Amino acid sequence: MEFYITTPIYYVNDKPHIGHAYTTIVADVLARWRASQGEQVRFSTGVDENSQKTVDAAAKAGEDIRAYTDRMADTWEAAWRTLAIANTDFIRTTEAHHHEVVRTIWERIEAAGDLYKGTYEGLYCKGHEAFMKESDLVDGLCPEHKTAPEVVREENYFFKLSAYQEKLLEFYDAHDDFVMPAHRFREVRAFVEQGLDDVSFSRERKEGRAEWGIPVPNDPHQAIYVWADALVNYISVPGFEGWEHHPADVHAVGKDILRFHAVIWPAMLMSAGLPLPGQIAANGFITNNGVKMSKSLGNGIDPLALAAQYGNDAVRYFLLREIPYGEDGDYSETKMKDRYNADLANGLGNLVARVLTLAEKENGKGTIVRGTLDPALDRAAMATARTVGERMASFRFSEALAALWELVALGDRYVNEKKIWEIADDAARAAALFDLVSLLEAIATLLAPFMPATARAIDAAMLWKDDVLHATKPAVLFPRIS
Ligand SMILES: [Zn+2]
Repeated sequence: MEFYITTPIYYVNDKPHIGHAYTTIVADVLARWRASQGEQVRFSTGVDENSQKTVDAAAKAGEDIRAYTDRMADTWEAAWRTLAIANTDFIRTTEAHHHEVVRTIWERIEAAGDLYKGTYEGLYCKGHEAFMKESDLVDGLCPEHKTAPEVVREENYFFKLSAYQEKLLEFYDAHDDFVMPAHRFREVRAFVEQGLDDVSFSRERKEGRAEWGIPVPNDPHQAIYVWADALVNYISVPGFEGWEHHPADVHAVGKDILRFHAVIWPAMLMSAGLPLPGQIAANGFITNNGVKMSKSLGNGIDPLALAAQYGNDAVRYFLLREIPYGEDGDYSETKMKDRYNADLANGLGNLVARVLTLAEKENGKGTIVRGTLDPALDRAAMATARTVGERMASFRFSEALAALWELVALGDRYVNEKKIWEIADDAARAAALFDLVSLLEAIATLLAPFMPATARAIDAAMLWKDDVLHATKPAVLFPRIS
């Protein structure tokens, strides 16, 4: 295994929304990109089942908790299959081997002297699965969940996060691309520089709260805090030896859970004496027509419905091209249709149709043979491959696609300038068409991680037999929409 990438494990008590899909698509594109570079890739996703929210949701649905979690885990796996996500692993935190790894990590952190028992009194937001500060509240309510947090006072185990401030800052200094994009890294650093509080790492197991979850080793009256449990999934997937040999290269996350991944998780690993991940990549939020999506507004975007309407590849293209990675982005039907018609129907789809219509007419004549590519096109294709590679390495997906679309524009100019349909000489016409189908092949290769089905359709339309091309004009890739 040469490249290991993860998504967060998602709470099982909900179905995937566009934000989950976006983070997962980003990880999928990176996984496919690295595989296309010849690397062996592990790409894991999964579900977080051990939270109190799961207990509440199962009760609300009137279902046995095991039956409920089984059903919902299937819902998530099925959603990723529908969206053509090529994950190699799918982890559920109710799996016994995960519990084993969580207990071992707990024991290592305890042996390092980083756990102690204390009394916690705080404001607990169930929606966040986290304690909140008075200063986080707006009119006494959690600003995100619009609910009043419970006052909780209990005995907990605490993780000595405060002891890791200097070590974290040293680590950040030595790894200046640990968090991507850079402005998010600056936020993380500023947060750590202010000083860190120890974090409550367990909950009392009592009727109706924290009965579910993983018991603290040797203290069954305490359950391990759901985040201390969930983060460990990244080790459970490859196993201890796997992680020690090759920790995750990239944890793809949303910006709302960046601190857990860039502060608490590295500190836990340092305490447990384990290697740290390579990078934490944090995407921004997506709004719907400029409005934050919420259950109460009922304006959430269902990624499956969107994919059914426009096609998987069009949704992937929109999210990656429209939103500069790391920034917040906005979805609207107008923006989606504009991108679709301009870039896909009139852009890529049109070029593919033009070239392959002309190439198909040569079938049976045996004229299009592998030859020498026009040097200008060859140089442009190679330069684009380099540019795309550089931009992928720094998570600039939108700019990578922009570079690729310059190649599409170049193809269009080439068709217009050569006026292939007017070339009477067979050899000259065939040479020009060879240039164009080679360009389409180069585009399909670079496009494959972003739009896998489209790339396959382009490749399938061009079959070489004994260095003679048999082209088939494919069905319209992106019918225009009004
Ligand atoms: Zn909340």
